Amino acid sequence: MALRDLAELEFGATFLAALPGDPRRDNVPRAVPGAAYTEVMPTPVAAPRLLAWSEEIAERLGVARPAADSRALHILAGNALAPGMRPYAARYGGHQFGNWAGQLGDGRALTLGELVTPAGERQELQLKGAGPTPYSRYADGRAVLRSSLREFLCSEAMHALGVPSSRALSLVTTGEQVVRDMFYDGNPQPEPGAIVCRVAPSFIRFGNFEIHAALEENGLLRSLADHVIDTHFPGHGHESPRAYARWFEEVCRRTAVMIAHWMRVGFVHGVMNTDNMSILGLTIDYGPYGWLEGYDPSWTPNTTDAAGRRYCYGRQPQIGMWNLSRLAGALLPLVGDQELLQDGLERYRSTYAATWSAMLAAKLGLEALGREGDDALVEELFALLAAVETDMPIFFRGLSGMLEQPLADAQLSPPADAHLPPPVAQALYEGAVVDTALRERWVAWFKLWHARGAASGASASERRRRMDAVNPRYLPRNYLAQQAIDAATGGDPQPLVQLLAVLRRPYDEQPGYQSY
Ligand code: AMP
Ligand code: MG
Repeated sequence: MALRDLAELEFGATFLAALPGDPRRDNVPRAVPGAAYTEVMPTPVAAPRLLAWSEEIAERLGVARPAADSRALHILAGNALAPGMRPYAARYGGHQFGNWAGQLGDGRALTLGELVTPAGERQELQLKGAGPTPYSRYADGRAVLRSSLREFLCSEAMHALGVPSSRALSLVTTGEQVVRDMFYDGNPQPEPGAIVCRVAPSFIRFGNFEIHAALEENGLLRSLADHVIDTHFPGHGHESPRAYARWFEEVCRRTAVMIAHWMRVGFVHGVMNTDNMSILGLTIDYGPYGWLEGYDPSWTPNTTDAAGRRYCYGRQPQIGMWNLSRLAGALLPLVGDQELLQDGLERYRSTYAATWSAMLAAKLGLEALGREGDDALVEELFALLAAVETDMPIFFRGLSGMLEQPLADAQLSPPADAHLPPPVAQALYEGAVVDTALRERWVAWFKLWHARGAASGASASERRRRMDAVNPRYLPRNYLAQQAIDAATGGDPQPLVQLLAVLRRPYDEQPGYQSY
């Protein structure tokens, strides 16, 4: 299928047509009561250059890679518009770190418009870092290359991992500098600026509903819900309180599935404020995210959350529930009856439990968990993973290698200096100390796991296939992203392109890329 020039595509704006906007057009920070958005133009940049392009999502959109200095490139930098584009910043609020924060809104993001793809899906194109909006509060509306590259890379990697996520089409450097305090040490430095064009059917957040509920803008609240249901939840109506409650239940279900996937791959979002929670159950707003290495449920990549650890790995499922409870509160005016919304929250709990259990089973090569002894098998594994300094993703990926190669006799009754079972040894951090008692527990666990797998009736190759399909071999770990950032900052996009190519197939062994 022929790809088309972005500058010649026709964009739509169903969100603008369905909802009332801000009557004011002046771009100064302010409260915007009674509106769902403000129409605002991106602020032009000096010298845009295409640093990276996602062929995959481009193909899905039917958009051709823009040439240097083309009109399409200028659209992706906020310097020009395609036909039908009416850029706007959405108004939303949110609970940040547990507290109601009032109006937030798109402070450095702008939706350009909606595109109907060749397959007939509606996708929104949004620029992140395109300049200030009425929602920028005290900040500049810009983004730096470092954070933009991380969002570009990770959202595409997440999609490839099978995790519901927004996508990224392009990464454009602006030719301008942005001043940021990179190490939060009071020494702000200029850094290269960049803009990501991200893509999702919608970027509507829990916070879009919360702001209307908080200010008792009930007509707006209803219009927003109706628009979201009509546009993004086909098959769900809004004819009655019960219909809204059923839709909320679906939002709960999707959120549970998304967070179970995060837990499966060891992703920690880092800032699960309700303004960063997509109503479609997509991972959005990639900030200080990170990947779990050693199994430490209290680990968080977010240095500003180091004291409270509200958004650490192990609390993500619980925070999902807390956030959905805030959304339920916002939807109460539409549903009237708290009890009806309770069904959705219960659905979250049951979906999360079932999905996580199925994923954990697959990670261990089993069809399902639930037999006698399975709880103990899982508990002991996580206790052991926590007790040794071992990299969790490497461990799980290595585990399938043990299927065809059961423990040797020497490992079953190891002398004091024998090695640990291979996947543990492989994943062990240099210098980690493992005493004899722990080693014996590991060996016992492996025996149990082998016996359980053999008793499951599935062949070793079947179990291996199951495991390798859910335990990724390649992840966009921070140090890899940093290498790509350093090279890109020096003008070389090649390491990013290479890394993304590997991350497109995260479950396949890719000889020559072991270093990733
Ligand atoms: P975040 O923590 O990135 O999800 O951002 C929370 C809120 O702050 C959102 O309303 C953002 O749009 C806004 N924000 C973050 N960074 C900037 C920035 N550089 N300029 C303007 N607004 C920003
Ligand atoms: Mg955000």
